[in-house]
Amino acid sequence: MGLFDTIILEKKYHCSTCGRGIESIQVKDFYPYLNTYRVGDCISEPDDIRLVKAGLYCDSCQKFTGQHVYAAVDHGILAGTAGNMEEAKNLLGTLSIEKLLLLHRSANKKHLADVMKRNRNINYLENLCAWYGKELYKRDKSDPDRRWFLWDFEFEGIDTPLEALEAFVTREQIINALDELGENNQVILDIYYLEDIKEGEEAWSVDVYQDYINNRCGLQWTWTVINQKELDLDEEERGKRQPEWVIMGDKPFSKQMVIDTIEKWLRNRHYNFTVRLIEPEQAEGSGMYKELKKRDPGKKHAQ
Ligand SMILES: [Zn+2]
Repeated sequence: MGLFDTIILEKKYHCSTCGRGIESIQVKDFYPYLNTYRVGDCISEPDDIRLVKAGLYCDSCQKFTGQHVYAAVDHGILAGTAGNMEEAKNLLGTLSIEKLLLLHRSANKKHLADVMKRNRNINYLENLCAWYGKELYKRDKSDPDRRWFLWDFEFEGIDTPLEALEAFVTREQIINALDELGENNQVILDIYYLEDIKEGEEAWSVDVYQDYINNRCGLQWTWTVINQKELDLDEEERGKRQPEWVIMGDKPFSKQMVIDTIEKWLRNRHYNFTVRLIEPEQAEGSGMYKELKKRDPGKKHAQ
């Protein structure tokens, strides 16, 4: 056990026992940051040229398959992955200086984005300590110390630090999963929901599933799209600040509205995925839906 990095393989390999696809390897050969690397990523120092041998593990059989793959590192850049050493050797020395410079530049850009993210996270934690530690939420809204936080609006209506942290962690995980989908050049995002709602319904709410995000973040579902009328019916939720993945849809219900609402949510966070609504039966299944299917394979809806 311990720290390792994940390398996403260029092509899928298959477990020789069960046939399940294997898409990544885990290595400890670099300074392990628990990072995920793809071909073209900067993985080590510019003077590092080597092949890294790694075993293929099957998640399904939960054991080593006996097969190995090789990752080629050229001047610190992950140049490619191959099924045998000869093929991997051929991947070395193929990067031009221009290409290397471009890759190192993009690595630096990523580094700066990570620094920004880290600073934002520290800032968030400082705010959290102040808001709950100094019990600012108990003070009058006109109190200058509290007013400063109102501009930030991060914890207003959230009752406990734990609740705030959970909301924060889930948000970060969803964003990371979306970044990964973007890095994998995913264009279409399949979503589905289980509720049976008539078009034109006035008060409604759907729990929207996106299998990749659910699996990646260990979520029961990804988004809740709800309209004000439905929210107002819930005494406890009235006037409470909703987490970021609860999205308001203010029209009567329609399938297109669900698609548009989620696309808009994504656009506002600079993601350009095309959202496609599929039937639950077409989906691999994740989160709560997977649980429900396990319990009662014939049952379609959550209610
Ligand atoms: Zn297997």
